[in-house]
Amino acid sequence: MSVIRSEGLAKSFHGKRAVAGVDLHVERGVVCALLGPSGCGKTTTLRLIAGFERPDAGRVLVGEKLVAGEGTFVPPERRRIGMVFQDYALFPHLTVESNVGYALGRSPDRTRVSEVLSLVGLERLAGRHPHELSGGEQQRVALARALAPTPEVILLDEPFSNLDAALRMRVRREMREILVEAGVTALFVTHDQEEALSLADRVAVMRDGRVEQEGTPEEVYGRPRTRWVADFLGDAEIVPGTAADGAVECELGRFPIPKELEGTVDVLVRPESVALGAGPAPGRDRSHEGVVVAREYYGHDQLVVVKLASGRRLRSRSMGFPIWHPGDRVRVWIEGPVNALAAEPAAAQATAISAADPGQ
Ligand code: ATP
Repeated sequence: MSVIRSEGLAKSFHGKRAVAGVDLHVERGVVCALLGPSGCGKTTTLRLIAGFERPDAGRVLVGEKLVAGEGTFVPPERRRIGMVFQDYALFPHLTVESNVGYALGRSPDRTRVSEVLSLVGLERLAGRHPHELSGGEQQRVALARALAPTPEVILLDEPFSNLDAALRMRVRREMREILVEAGVTALFVTHDQEEALSLADRVAVMRDGRVEQEGTPEEVYGRPRTRWVADFLGDAEIVPGTAADGAVECELGRFPIPKELEGTVDVLVRPESVALGAGPAPGRDRSHEGVVVAREYYGHDQLVVVKLASGRRLRSRSMGFPIWHPGDRVRVWIEGPVNALAAEPAAAQATAISAADPGQ
């Protein structure tokens, strides 16, 4: 059963479409990420679901109840939605306990306040004020406050953007555990691919006001439906190929792919599927040999750029060892999933690549 459902949701500001027909279904107990580049309409979608904006078209259902559209508009406080804002929006003059209690009205149920504080692991800090807490602790207070009235749904707007990189990883993990333990349905907005893939059960990838693809993290990353999604979610090598009878043939070899593709295709290989070995290829086939032209070392892994005999450059991502150096001759083979997409015209590819530019 979908606990959050939007159908044909649209919203414009000053004549410009921010959300252009969003269809989104989030099942009960699922943590879903709304992922996309800056300005694609993620926050507006979240605000439409929360009831902070009125849709121009389409409808929103929460827990199968119509809350917006078809002449209905239920205000945010009556939608059974908990909201965690980017800046947490805690009251600075109230203690942790009172901040959480505030969500439960004038005479808050103390047992419920202790229950949620214990769920987020903050019972010991109940008497502190927000300025006496770390960023991660403040975030947990905001989450406890959103969970206190046992909402049907929790919406989180870029919940980790105020935390530094090291803390973010830990808080993400903690937050996922809390959401799963609370059994709540959650939708969070992020522009961070790694965050969406590692935290969510489902990822809805948004582009230009629409959901371009929705699926498990493995599906959207491993089987992107469009070149744009492929590029947006991570590094991707695109090699021309020919598909027939459930296989694709390209200069990297022959690989199984879904049967429905035929003819000219773009073969998509993630750098972690490109394996390297020392020395030349056995036999006389030089097609899978290359020379290392660059290497970026990241500690936990490395990205090695190899130039194949054909002149094609391929990126290979692997553990931090063995250490490759520019000039090393290597064998190159594919050891992992290969995906194919119907070939896109050059103009569309150029748009896809610039749209997926990091920094957006
Ligand atoms: P970011 O990741 O940068 O927060 P986003 O994907 O959440 O971006 P939105 O905040 O939903 O995007 O904005 C979508 C578009 O709508 C943008 O072009 C933005 O400038 C515009 N927009 C959003 N809210 C308003 C508003 N209240 N008035 C005018 N324009 C708005």
